[in-house]
Amino acid sequence: MIGAPVSKASLYIDDDRCHICRRCLAQQVCRVRAIVRIDRDEPPFIDVHRCHGCMICVVECPFEAIVAA
Ligand code: SF4
Ligand code: SF4
Repeated sequence: MIGAPVSKASLYIDDDRCHICRRCLAQQVCRVRAIVRIDRDEPPFIDVHRCHGCMICVVECPFEAIVAA
């Protein structure tokens, strides 16, 4: 079920797929702020210590850049 905490998935952002959107939709939907962006010219990354594997960002990213390790 999307949105519910499940067994923690190990997710990362594939830099080759990420389009470095001006507004990262995946980052905006993450309720625990696990998607971090330091430089606006670089892809964001997932803070594995915050991420609880809900998968909402996976659905939200229009370029399927968030993938399971
Ligand atoms: S993770 Fe997805 S939504 Fe976020 S900047 Fe990359 S391509 Fe865009
Ligand atoms: S899986 Fe959920 S908690 Fe983890 S980065 Fe994506 S939206 Fe945030």
